Amino acid sequence: MGILDTCPICGVPVQIGKYIEWNSNGTITQKRDPTHRMLFYECKHLDRLFTGIEDIIGISIDKYIVESKSRSIIQYIKKQKSWPRGALARPVVRNFMRNLSDGARLNGYGVIEVKELQWRKGYLRCAVTNPYSLPMVCGDIRGAFEAILNKTSEIKSEEVSPERYDLTCFWAPHAQELASRLLPVSTKAKPGDYEFERCTNCDIPLEISKVRWDFDDGTITNDELGVRVALFGARAVQAVFDELKSELGRQIDDAIIEAQRQYSLSLAKEQLKSAQQPKPERQVNLKLAMAVTGLGNLVELEVRSGGYQVRVENPSLPLVTVGNAIAFYEFITGKQSSSYWEITDDGDLNVELSPA
Ligand SMILES: [Zn+2]
Repeated sequence: MGILDTCPICGVPVQIGKYIEWNSNGTITQKRDPTHRMLFYECKHLDRLFTGIEDIIGISIDKYIVESKSRSIIQYIKKQKSWPRGALARPVVRNFMRNLSDGARLNGYGVIEVKELQWRKGYLRCAVTNPYSLPMVCGDIRGAFEAILNKTSEIKSEEVSPERYDLTCFWAPHAQELASRLLPVSTKAKPGDYEFERCTNCDIPLEISKVRWDFDDGTITNDELGVRVALFGARAVQAVFDELKSELGRQIDDAIIEAQRQYSLSLAKEQLKSAQQPKPERQVNLKLAMAVTGLGNLVELEVRSGGYQVRVENPSLPLVTVGNAIAFYEFITGKQSSSYWEITDDGDLNVELSPA
């Protein structure tokens, strides 16, 4: 069976059902490593969120994203198997690079073509088309390169045409201090009882079959919402947020929430415009939407004193959810909001929204 074969019932790639679990507690995890949380989330938006944060805080955060994603990939690859050394390693590496390319298409990362791999010099050149996020894909490639060759490296990108980049990776020392800080951390999840309607063949939630995989472009598109999505590790992104917070303080929380609020609100307005007349089936099931993306288990959404009380168990990227909740409130009520949020001792996210 090829890596890109699809399920005859739901049309989702078979490998997705084989390796990824959509759980009843609002999390998405890898079957091989249930502590490795994933998101099935808008990806072009990630770059906009990163740019939005940069605009607000006034510094580039690319180096953090590349480093964090790279650390996460190294951790993942090293868990999978031990790598042979010397001449024995070469066919394994070539095979791995081919799988990396197939895996990228499967996860919606774009098309990654290995153009040149010089073993002795420690040099890798790839062409990447339609990257899901340029700094994230740079981190993925650099991490894979470092994990299999066991040396530190740098990566450079050059745009050769719209949505097409040349990436070169080469051995070079880099700041170990940053690398040792940007390690993804796993947290324990609470159980949940959300029941997806699932495919009878591959067990994937049927909601997933609404998106469209385009293997030629390496993209996954949710046509109903008009957004591109990808399946990626959540902890690497959280590690970037954590690192920014340790350097810049709590203002980074506000910057992330504000960048997310702005994006989410503009997306909701665009979708309303393009929908013309909202159909009943377009009504959003927020609990399902969060469970499908892996952002967490929405266990409470109550109207309270003219505002909303929201509680999410097992939140992933909680600040993104806070930004989404504020945007949702402002979209529904047409009013500015005042918000308070906290992560409780047992890891839940509480958000309170009220008129400003
Ligand atoms: Zn299926």
